[in-house]
Amino acid sequence: MLANGLGTPDAIEVFLGLQSDVPYFARDISALPDPLAASLASLGHFRDARAAAGLLAPHEIAILGQAKALIDWHNRHGFCATCGAPTGIADGGYRRICPACKAEHFPRTDPAVIMLVTDKDRCLLARNKRFAGGHYSTLAGFIEPGETIEEAVKREVYEEVRVRVGAVSYFASQPWPFPSNLMIGCFAQSEQSDIEVDGEEIIAARWFDRASVKRLINGESDEIGLPRGDAIASHLIRHWAEQG
Ligand SMILES: [Zn+2]
Repeated sequence: MLANGLGTPDAIEVFLGLQSDVPYFARDISALPDPLAASLASLGHFRDARAAAGLLAPHEIAILGQAKALIDWHNRHGFCATCGAPTGIADGGYRRICPACKAEHFPRTDPAVIMLVTDKDRCLLARNKRFAGGHYSTLAGFIEPGETIEEAVKREVYEEVRVRVGAVSYFASQPWPFPSNLMIGCFAQSEQSDIEVDGEEIIAARWFDRASVKRLINGESDEIGLPRGDAIASHLIRHWAEQG
């Protein structure tokens, strides 16, 4: 969509980069009413970014994620964290500068771990209180200051389901710009069978054997809902299911 000139004059605009020598920009037009004015109806209509991601090609999802993370960061960092003065945009949107104290502020990424806990031929799936319907997924949580990825996995699993895990192995990562996370996907080997959910974030959790997970993936069972296919949680579950 060509959004040049849309939105308020001071709408945030950032330079995303070049693709085949074509410059890409993102402009925040979220303040406009939806649907857009009739004269602009050909430009389409607003969609929730998470829902829209399901309609885009992988390279377009990456551009959407970059744009969303940057725009969100600007919207939340209009004032200097050091002195409180209004900050200004610089470097095409990759920096904000405070004119009062000269502090520079950079877009941030918050690392989070997302892990499939396994116990030989079983894996642990849990139901978060925010999940709709009968959906289950992997466990996840933010890395705390001073923690390694492995320590964060072990702490989060223990906090949420009181299960001690041993070996942690890295699988893959996925940017998740809601608002600025990097999801670090891991497998974690359980050292015990007993589960005790925290009851606050996680309201149910249980072991699923590999055959049951395969049936769920193949649509042969609707015992629970699994995460959507493009989420890293789904990649973790599918990768493990294919191992045996
Ligand atoms: Zn300042």
